[in-house]
Amino acid sequence: MSDADLATTARRAAELRQILEQASHEYYVLDRPHLSDAEYDALFRELRALETAHPELATPDSPTHRVGAEPASQFDKVRHLAPMYSLDNAFAPEELRAWEDRNARIAGEVREQGYIAELKIDGAAVALRYQDGMLVRAATRGNGVVGEEITRNIRTIREIPLRLSGTRFPALLEVRGEVYMPFSGFNAMNERRVAAGEATFANPRNAAAGALRQLDARITAERPLRFFGYQIMTDPDRPEPIGAATQEQVLDLLSSWGIPTNPRRCLCADLDAVAAYTAEVERFRGELDYAIDGVVVKVLPLHLWEELGVVGEHDPRWAIAYKFAPDLATTRLRSIEINVGRTGSLNPFAVLEPVEIGGATVRLATLHNFDDIARKDLRIGDMVLVKRAGEVIPQVVAPITERRTGAEKVLEPPAVCPVCGTPVEKPADEVMYYCPNGSCPARIYWGIVHFAGRAAMDIRGLGERTIQQLIETGLVHDVADLYGLEALQLLTLEGFAEVSAQNLVDALEASKAQPLSRLLFALGIRHVGVQAARLVAQRFQRMDALLAAGADDFAAVHGIGETTARALGTYLAEPRNRDVLRRLADVGVNMVEPVERADEVPLEGLTFVVTGTLPTLSRKEATTFVERHGGRVSGSVTRQTDYVVAGESPGSKLARAEELGVPVLDEAELMALVESRRAPEAERT
Ligand code: NAD
Repeated sequence: MSDADLATTARRAAELRQILEQASHEYYVLDRPHLSDAEYDALFRELRALETAHPELATPDSPTHRVGAEPASQFDKVRHLAPMYSLDNAFAPEELRAWEDRNARIAGEVREQGYIAELKIDGAAVALRYQDGMLVRAATRGNGVVGEEITRNIRTIREIPLRLSGTRFPALLEVRGEVYMPFSGFNAMNERRVAAGEATFANPRNAAAGALRQLDARITAERPLRFFGYQIMTDPDRPEPIGAATQEQVLDLLSSWGIPTNPRRCLCADLDAVAAYTAEVERFRGELDYAIDGVVVKVLPLHLWEELGVVGEHDPRWAIAYKFAPDLATTRLRSIEINVGRTGSLNPFAVLEPVEIGGATVRLATLHNFDDIARKDLRIGDMVLVKRAGEVIPQVVAPITERRTGAEKVLEPPAVCPVCGTPVEKPADEVMYYCPNGSCPARIYWGIVHFAGRAAMDIRGLGERTIQQLIETGLVHDVADLYGLEALQLLTLEGFAEVSAQNLVDALEASKAQPLSRLLFALGIRHVGVQAARLVAQRFQRMDALLAAGADDFAAVHGIGETTARALGTYLAEPRNRDVLRRLADVGVNMVEPVERADEVPLEGLTFVVTGTLPTLSRKEATTFVERHGGRVSGSVTRQTDYVVAGESPGSKLARAEELGVPVLDEAELMALVESRRAPEAERT
């Protein structure tokens, strides 16, 4: 591949990362996705294929290496016993075969052992921790490693037992499964909301995820949530037998403990049986009272799960989501309109002649950018193929050129911003057109929506309608003006009473304490997502240090690319932005990043050698244990070795350790070492 081709590929990979990061934020944090899942999946696969073909282009913060999104700040963060992963997707029988072939190369017996096919519930994954059979803690999946603590909310779901039935369970375990909202409850709830003049929820998945993440458990209690369990996890550092050898037995065991499991499942001897069951599921799917988006195919025996392991800290190899083909329909493209986003990007969307797809009426569809419109050769007036994957925003797939009459019109990208009339710009290395006017009302509006968002400054009660009114009434011209708002002024706006006005003032006050990384993300700087903001804030610690730095300094931060560095440099150099930052600082918005605690990696900097048979941990488990706590495990004892962990029949490594004077620990002493190097309990977050 030539340098020029590689540069193009690198640009596409960077672009995909940005789109996916933004989409994940909208999906997981805002519960308000703009891409359909099918589009997200297609872009995700494109990125993964690029990174596989060019490993040198992979970045550690790529969405292909991360699960979900960061936990929101208003919840306590809790660490799962072991990571909660996502699932790889297959959309066609040959992709399922490829999955089996890859697995068979690792564990040959996989073909003979059979599968279990479960319904893929479209809800929110949670981990329920039971200690001695009592529900002690519940958490969302979060970023897979750390989730949000939602115990009180989970306790409101009546079918989740607070105490497990029977006695045959490990002392410490996590039940994992899906919280979902049945269609019946979802529809009834939306009807009540319409009657009360409240906003309705877009789909049951978003409604369930939103209900779980309420700060007031009384609100969760009012939402019709249900649960299906499908996995049992014990502490990998202190493994306990669970009493099941296959996934089928896991489901039976869960049922025997009183955990609801989905009665619809199918044991499949091979992939043909999986395909037959999937076809059956597609037939009865419409009768279910809950949303599913496919079938999860799992390797049946659990001993193979450990052997197969995980790909890129993202997907376990022992399971795959076999997703349904998205629904398609044909309709007319009436017009193409443009939304101006917070970065000034001109986002075109399709206005369609209303059409029914999969039980919903579709009127609007996404069109990513003008290049995409040109590539697909979409013309106004065309009959088009529209895809809706059961989710929120459908997609225009292609025009049906055979049905053209000649009256269709080609749409040129606009020369000026449709909102403020400023001539548009198109950076050479990007596909989007931008309105460069920082005072464009559309940009200000979306900028404030973003600023107030959950992953940004998290200003509760500052919704889109309020923001619109604040701008229209001239009370707010930029984000700094928000902090000058008084309760009396808010009372002049529609929908505010004394309590809600005071609540918003209080929420604004509370948001001043957000860390620098959140503020940096909240500013809505092009290319600066949650992860980039965090990396930069951790490196520079203070806003004044950032203001004194330039693009080159930002590019020197590990994980920050050229484009992001340049965008950040340009933004911070702009006098108008510096003025906003100064005014934010003047009203007391925090401009400092708290120092990260190191207590999660108590073994950092230490090298271990494991030898002999330990009483409870296998060699592999001991290695995982050390690595999870930040240590390194090496195969041979040298002067650089800090500790040798020895069990029964240790052999020559123990002798070598004694010869070199390397301290020797048994398994219990290794555990004690971790505890002693941890910060005291009270200090931990
Ligand atoms: P996923 O939803 O494809 O699959 C993993 C999840 O499936 C698990 O975490 C679990 O919660 C769930 N699940 C349901 N039933 C299950 C069962 N019986 N057994 C095991 N797991 C079961 O992956 P994800 O990481 O949760 O989300 C990624 C997906 O979310 C993407 O593929 C995309 O469809 C969607 N997404 C969409 C957008 C968007 O903008 N539309 C953005 C981000 C993610």
